[in-house]
Amino acid sequence: MSTKTELDPVFNPKSIAVIGASRKPGTIGNKVVENLIEGGYKGKIYPVNPGADEILGLKAYGTINDVPGDVDVAVFCVPAKFVLDSARQCAQKRVKGMVVISSGFSETGNRKDEEELVAIAKAVGSRVIGPNIVGILSNSTKANASFAPCLPYPGKTAFITQSGALLIALDMATFVRKMGFSAMISNGNMADVDFADAIEYYDEDPDTSCITLYIEGLKDGRRFIQAGRKASKPIVAIKSGVSARGAAAAASHTGSLAGATKIYEAAFRQAHVVPAHTIDELLNRSQAMSMQPPLTGDNILVVTNGGGIGVLATDSAERYNVPLSAAPSDLQDALRKCMPDFGSAKNPVDITGGAGLEGYKGAIAAALKHPWVNGLVVLYCETAVTSPPDIAKGVIEAIKATNVTDKPIVAAFVGGERCDQARSVLSDAGIPMFDDPDKAMSVMSGLRQYARFLDEGREDDFKPHKDVDTKAAREVVAEVRKAGRTSFTEPEAKRLFAAYGLPVGRCFVAKTEDEAVRLAGEIGFPLVMKIVSPQILHKSDACCVKININSVEEVRENFKTIMANAKKFKPDADLHGVLMQEMAPKGTEVICGSINDPQFGPTIMFGLGGIFVEVLKDVTFRVTPISPHQAMEMLPGIKAFPILQGVRGEKRRDQEALADVISRLSQLVYDLGDEIAESDANPILLYEQGKGLKVVDARVILKKK
Ligand code: ADP
Ligand code: MG
Repeated sequence: MSTKTELDPVFNPKSIAVIGASRKPGTIGNKVVENLIEGGYKGKIYPVNPGADEILGLKAYGTINDVPGDVDVAVFCVPAKFVLDSARQCAQKRVKGMVVISSGFSETGNRKDEEELVAIAKAVGSRVIGPNIVGILSNSTKANASFAPCLPYPGKTAFITQSGALLIALDMATFVRKMGFSAMISNGNMADVDFADAIEYYDEDPDTSCITLYIEGLKDGRRFIQAGRKASKPIVAIKSGVSARGAAAAASHTGSLAGATKIYEAAFRQAHVVPAHTIDELLNRSQAMSMQPPLTGDNILVVTNGGGIGVLATDSAERYNVPLSAAPSDLQDALRKCMPDFGSAKNPVDITGGAGLEGYKGAIAAALKHPWVNGLVVLYCETAVTSPPDIAKGVIEAIKATNVTDKPIVAAFVGGERCDQARSVLSDAGIPMFDDPDKAMSVMSGLRQYARFLDEGREDDFKPHKDVDTKAAREVVAEVRKAGRTSFTEPEAKRLFAAYGLPVGRCFVAKTEDEAVRLAGEIGFPLVMKIVSPQILHKSDACCVKININSVEEVRENFKTIMANAKKFKPDADLHGVLMQEMAPKGTEVICGSINDPQFGPTIMFGLGGIFVEVLKDVTFRVTPISPHQAMEMLPGIKAFPILQGVRGEKRRDQEALADVISRLSQLVYDLGDEIAESDANPILLYEQGKGLKVVDARVILKKK
């Protein structure tokens, strides 16, 4: 059954039973019944309470099985200890959705009952929302099946939140903001229905045009990415709790760099979810996305009656990465006719304080009809001689007269109470209005981001590389496991990488000085010598890496030094010998690695080496596997990207070769996701266009089993 069919009776119920309905004011069981009545719920309401005949004027039933008709949704308002019994009765009654407000489940450590609850529901094809929630609110059916005070201001955004308190707060905020919701879903512990389900459902809901999420954590990150990518409606989300987590314990470079922020940034991008960083940004972007089309090009025109807010808008535009450029000359000519001589027709277009309504009307008409303009921002500073609500009405008229509907328009009116009135006027006409030009620009950048996602398409273009040897890779893993270890030595890690076609260069382990000399003869000079020991992961720290070795004498001397240094560094370390490898020519040092994220699974990282990664943490992530094409798109995600483009006379680096390696490593850690915890190719020496790269150091850590 599709998510839509399965969840339709849950999110749009025709009948609702309230388990634990109460006559006592102030209880949740009383509030939910009252809310359903006062919200004007269109379906049937069945209060269930063994000790009451009537609640708030409605006939009450002893158990759910006494209810005469079908019940789509049962809202649980009983204490946790009664939930399972009630759920069994609901299952008998074939209730389609169990909305479990009751708390006292996994959030307090009681996982067992939560799992039991889901099992009871699943057995009869019923779905569970919660537990530990405020309830669900739908403006479509006027169902306020919650203890939030009332249904939200009407709108076309579906809001799904893990925080119930935030649901109530934002429910109230919608009336002040004139920013409405089609539905508000509190999903709490997400024992069953999660964000992916809600995305799939509201993507097909005719009353919803934008999906907004407040996320604390995901249970199945990959399903979330798939659901987001497949959705045809814009999704805006905020993730709370993105500060560093568990990074200190990580054994690899990649592990220590993977904060939740970076991983979620990547996952949102891959899920085609527009991020928000504050509640304000979340609501503003959602409102605009629910009302306006995507911004399909970079040309935003700003029309303003005040120079100051125009300049502020210009600054913000740059900060949000949607910089303004000057309007073409024919458009400037047309605009100049709508303003006094001292106005400006460039961008922002300053029609000046004296221009009034006619100025706005003329400028809007000229702008929207011009093919260069992709989106319009209308700014207004309250003046003594103009009325904000009148300006708002005029702006709407002018927009309507152009018949242009495929270009996004947002407004920012700066001023007092009369601007609040203008907000209602504009919002009712589908034009989001804010009190700060910065917010208008943030919203425009969100609309631009969304348009870019649409360009990307919904297909995931990953196709596995065929010339990989998964069997050989698993053999290396088995060897390391057999030795009772989780960390690979460099030659082991390189064998693993080589199985997936990563260019690791030739290397051999020498157990004795004489063997080192013999191997040096095979490899040729110059060469590099390093210690091989599972206990010495950071070889330079132990002074056990010697580069640019050019003679037999040096080989002998360095063999002795490396073994001695290793013993000094860690007397009980298990020394396998000295790794002899060809010395790669100088190149740009980059790092590529992976971690196995608890929510998203194998996740790949890329950044430049050296101080870029150590100090600036200038890295970017993707959930694996990714194609070379997706890897190419990952590269500009770091600040140091211009170095790969070639600066100060240097040639462009071989980005294609790099993308191929990132993609191959992503496939490796994905295929062996059950085994590999972390990996690093650090450094990779990257050469100029056409000359490829070399992985000169490799590290792999297995999952603990
Ligand atoms: P560590 O365990 O300390 O990370 P590496 O193997 O990365 O040791 O070696 C330290 C540095 O030596 C590298 O960052 C790189 O600059 C250089 N290096 C290591 N191996 C090679 C090689 N085969 N060719 C050229 N330079 C190398
Ligand atoms: Mg290294």
